[in-house]
Amino acid sequence: MPSTRKIIHIDMDAFYASVEQRDNPELKGKPVAVGGSGKRGVVAAASYEARAFGVHSALSSIIAKRRCPDLIFVKPRFSVYKSTSLIIRSIFKEYTDLIEPLSLDEAYLDVTKNKKGIRIATEIARQIKSRIKEQTGLTASAGVSVNKFLAKIASDMDKPDGLFIIKPHQVEAFVDKLPIEKFFGVGKVTANKMQAMGIFTGKDLKRFPENMLVDKFGKVGRYFYQVARGIDERPVEPNRERKSIGAETTFAVDYDQLELLLEELDKLSIEVAGRLRRSEAAGRTITVKIKFSDFTQITRSKTTEDTVNSKKEIYDTSKELLSHAYVDGMKVRLLGVTISHFAEGHKPRRDDQLTIEL
Ligand SMILES: [Mg+2]
Repeated sequence: MPSTRKIIHIDMDAFYASVEQRDNPELKGKPVAVGGSGKRGVVAAASYEARAFGVHSALSSIIAKRRCPDLIFVKPRFSVYKSTSLIIRSIFKEYTDLIEPLSLDEAYLDVTKNKKGIRIATEIARQIKSRIKEQTGLTASAGVSVNKFLAKIASDMDKPDGLFIIKPHQVEAFVDKLPIEKFFGVGKVTANKMQAMGIFTGKDLKRFPENMLVDKFGKVGRYFYQVARGIDERPVEPNRERKSIGAETTFAVDYDQLELLLEELDKLSIEVAGRLRRSEAAGRTITVKIKFSDFTQITRSKTTEDTVNSKKEIYDTSKELLSHAYVDGMKVRLLGVTISHFAEGHKPRRDDQLTIEL
């Protein structure tokens, strides 16, 4: 039997919104949404006061406002989130170098062997939480377990300011009882599919042989088979590289005119160029993704000789790709632009993983 690993997943509580409440006392105790309040705005983060009204990230701002009429919208301040994130990262570093950030506010830590020689991972999680509170004034939730799958679920069990531990001898009973929609990687569509198969909990999932899950769900079926048994061998990877940087937008109503799509493409190009800039990255392949109203999707790519990172280059190339693939009348529900194929010296910095829809 392999020796047991000690993995911690740290997740800041309502990160962007908490930073805004910290820096502006007038926002304390109030429902706050970080994001644009306009017609196409999307909530990037919601304070706990806002969540009580059913406001959550990725929700359209219009619906958010309807659910919570007193909702206060605040423009995101990424430089502040980023510098706060770096402080948090430096606290992690005192304990281990095996840190895998998932975004500015979330990371896995492997503390099996740690710099302070602390044997109990829960003690490390406790210390990290209190150091974060001390140095940033913000609360974090921590999950502690034997692998990434379990640590991530654990950090969500006791939010906010939570600390939840799944010990090796508790794993089986915990996963057995776990509702499948709590499994990482199970979205709405997969959950519905599983429920139609009579799978509601980890225990139900365990009844299915691996080949059947692969038949039903593709490659991820193998992962489902493993995690239903509490197994997840994925290492904590400090240097996992980003392969692409992009942005996409889902329309409130389907678009059926090239002209309208080009307007969106313009905004997306600005967003992608901004992300490339923040990440100090430049790439050679530009990809346009178009998802139609029937959920079929196409992508069109072009690889250029030189790297691109400016808004104009991104827009011009993606416009060319879109114009070739699209004719008026086709109903489009989502449009996306992605840059990949990063040149040496222009690879994205690891810590820029903001995903905010326009
Ligand atoms: Mg978070």
